[in-house]
This record gives sequence, C-alpha cells and structure tokens, in this order.
Amino acid sequence: MTGGQTTRRRVLQQIALMACTALPFRPALAQGSAGRVVVIGGGFAGATCARALKRLDPRLAVTLVEQSATFTACPFSNGVIAGLRDLHDQEFTYDKLAASDVALATQMATGIEPQAHVVSLADGTRLVYDRLVVAPGIDLRWDALPGYNEAAAEKMPHAWKAGAQTLLLRRQLEAMEDGGLVVIAAPANPYRCPPGPYERASLVAHYLKTKKPRSKLILLDAKEAFSKQKLFQNAWQELYPGLIEWVPLSSGGKVTSVDPAALTLATDFQTYKPAVANVIPPQKAGHVAELAGVADKSGWCPIDPVTFESTLQPNIHVIGDAAIAGAMPKSAFAANAQAKACAAALAALFAGVTPQTPKLINTCYSLAAPDYGISVAGVYQPANGQLVEIAGSGGTSPLDAPASLRATEASIADGWFRTITAEVFG
Ligand SMILES: Cc1cc2nc3c(=O)[nH]c(=O)nc-3n(C[C@H](O)[C@H](O)[C@H](O)COP(=O)(O)OP(=O)(O)OC[C@H]3O[C@@H](n4cnc5c(N)ncnc54)[C@H](O)[C@@H]3O)c2cc1C
Repeated sequence: MTGGQTTRRRVLQQIALMACTALPFRPALAQGSAGRVVVIGGGFAGATCARALKRLDPRLAVTLVEQSATFTACPFSNGVIAGLRDLHDQEFTYDKLAASDVALATQMATGIEPQAHVVSLADGTRLVYDRLVVAPGIDLRWDALPGYNEAAAEKMPHAWKAGAQTLLLRRQLEAMEDGGLVVIAAPANPYRCPPGPYERASLVAHYLKTKKPRSKLILLDAKEAFSKQKLFQNAWQELYPGLIEWVPLSSGGKVTSVDPAALTLATDFQTYKPAVANVIPPQKAGHVAELAGVADKSGWCPIDPVTFESTLQPNIHVIGDAAIAGAMPKSAFAANAQAKACAAALAALFAGVTPQTPKLINTCYSLAAPDYGISVAGVYQPANGQLVEIAGSGGTSPLDAPASLRATEASIADGWFRTITAEVFG
C-alpha cells in the first residue's frame, strides 16, 4: 500500500468515527493542503467544526473567523441573572484554539461572494475557500415587535445574547424593590433555546423568593405550550407557589408592542407595567447568513440534513442556531453535534467519498432551582430532507422524581457545561 493510500484510508477511518457524536480524536496525519475551509462564527457550532475538521484531516487548511476575542456562553447565563454565578464563569478565550493548527482571524466577516468563493473581513482581508461553514448563531429581529429596538433593549433587556445584556438584567433585578413585578416576554417558535425562558423564569423566581419575597413574576408567552412544560409547572408549584403566573397565547400572552419610555408591554388583552421587563424578541439567523445568501424568507437557513450544505448556495454549509435543523432544537448541545456531523461530511467530500448518514444527539438541561435539574433528550436522523427525531429515542426527566434525582440532574447539567466548554475552547 502506498503512503497516499494509507493516508486516505486513515482519513476515511476518521470520518467514520466522526459520524457519531461521541468522538475519539486521532493524532495528526500527513501535512499538505487537501482543501481550504473557512468557518464563520467561533461559538458552539463553528469552533467545534473548525477543530473537528483539523482532527479529521490535518491536511485541510482551516480558518476560523470570529469577531470577538472572548466568547460569552449563553448556557447557564440565567444563573448569572439570578445572582447564582459570575459572568466571568461564562467567558472563554480562543487562546488554545489560536495555539492549535486552526488559523484564527479575530475579525468580523463583512462580505461573502459565493460565486468567487471569497469571504471579506472588516480589516479588508479576503479569504478564499473551497467550502465555507456559516455558524453565526442568531440575531434579534429589531423590526418584529413595535417599540422594541436596540435602544429599547437598554431599558428592557433581552439578555438572549450573553454579556452586557445579562448583567443589565441582573442589575435591574438587584435594584428592584421587594414587592416589584417582573415580566418576561417569550417569543413564538422557532428561537434560540426553547426551554430558556422557562429556566429563566424559574431562576428569577428563586432570586425573588430568597431576596424579594413579596415580588411577583408574570411570564407572557406567544405560545400555547412549551418545552418540558409539565416538569417546569410542577417545579413552579413545588418551589414557588403563587409567585409565577404563566400567560399563554390564548389568554393574551403575546406581547404586541412595548413602550420603553413608560416601561409598558401591551397585549391584545391588557397593558402591563412591571418594575423589570425582560423582552425576548423574535430572532433570525445571524446577519452574515443573509450576506451569504443562505437565509430564506423565514430568516433561517435551509440545509441538507446529511451534509448541512445550504439548499440555496452550493459549497456553503450552515450549522448551529442559524440552520433549519428540523426537529432539532436550537441548543449548544445540538450545535456541537451538528458541527461534528458537518465536519465528517466535509472531510468525506474532500476525500471524494459519499458522506455517511449521521445520527445526532441532543440533550437540553434546565435548572428550576440551583439543585433542581430537569432534561429533555432526543436522537435525530435525516429523513425526507429533514432532521427528524427517531421514534422512542428520547424523553424527559420523570415527572414524579425524588429531590435526589433533581439534584443529580442539576449536577449532570453542570458537568455537561464544563465538558462542552472544555472541548470547544479548552
Ligand atoms: C439564556 C440561554 C440559555 C441557554 N441554555 C442552554 C443550555 O442549557 N444548553 C444548551 O445546549 N443550549 C443553551 N442555550 C442555547 C445556546 O446558547 C445556543 O444554541 C448556542 O450558543 C448556538 O451555538 P452557535 O454556534 O450556533 O451560536 P453562538 O454560540 O451564538 O456562536 C456564534 C458566534 O458567531 C460569531 N459571529 C456572528 N457573526 C459573525 C461575523 N459576521 N463574523 C465573525 N463572527 C461572527 C459570534 O460572535 C459568536 O461567537 C441557551 C441560550 C440562552 C439564550
């Protein structure tokens, strides 16, 4: 067998391994360029994909474009809002990644020419790619909710991108008098982290119960039902009786406009004037997806579920929150799994073989209190051009579990966050 055949066989072995979500990585293979991949977005999807590509086939030239020098993670950021952890615990640098053989460009991607295969960066650099991975996460739709724009978000924070907004909401809660009303407005589907608003309501309720017990929380919802609903509602009854009021769509839960000057939120049924308003507006794929021409009218990006290649632009792949991933929720867990499957598909395509059909796992943990964890899990595979959940593959935490199991799940959630951030940024 020639050296070339050996290398090719090893690359194919690596690809087969990467088609699973639990991935043992292998040492570097031969050097030399087998193709150029540019990845835009150094979050759970993009940073995972860049690293996985290099591990699969070290001959690939992989460049990760990330606009920020520090990544601030959303998972567990509800704990920051509730005063349970520091924002610093959410922050990760790209130092380790920069020291690896992935090339890091700390720049915003400002232009994409799909025909010429070029990405332009804010500093004028032009990066040529054979395949592009777009993983920009979400942007907020500033045009979707009358009265809600970037200036309004300084008074009524969304805190749906972690960082300054997270701290703003925390400070507002700290400054609120005991007896104040907190309103959280949750959007219709699809949006980043389906259980996120309900975890937030739970942890804010925990803060109110322990620090401002005469206060109340109203959760205005543009939906009739939500992720892990029974588990959350049981937890609210058990831990925060009378503190949280959930208002579904049919009872007037959809916020139709806001007035940041008056600090009011209007629904078709009534107007609310809270002391603290957390408005989570409708969302779309990060702006760069529009620049790449991979977002459709919904604002999200349709993809082939095996390769994550855009159905709108050849040679551009979309992963993470920005993608329309069928039944898979927009979660960090899912973004990480999609990134590995996409990397495996890309390595296969560069090696000239047919990508394997992936199976993708997602688990979303939520905290109803610091020592009260609940979860929902599922396994997904391509079917009829979509990612569908394999029947009977998943489920939620039991409804009637003892406190000890809730505490165990809370600690498993903590372990998951440590593990995934170590894998992506460590
Ligand atoms: C409150 C909250 C709680 C959550 N809790 C959980 C949880 O417990 N578990 C879970 O699995 N998920 C959770 N999530 C969801 C999770 O945060 C997202 O699903 C995940 O971050 C998606 O990963 P991503 O890589 O697609 O996007 P991101 O992680 O947002 O990464 C996108 C990156 O792209 C960069 N970028 C964007 N545009 C450009 C550009 N033009 N040029 C250069 N860089 C660019 C951004 O700076 C960013 O670093 C939560 C979300 C929220 C809001």
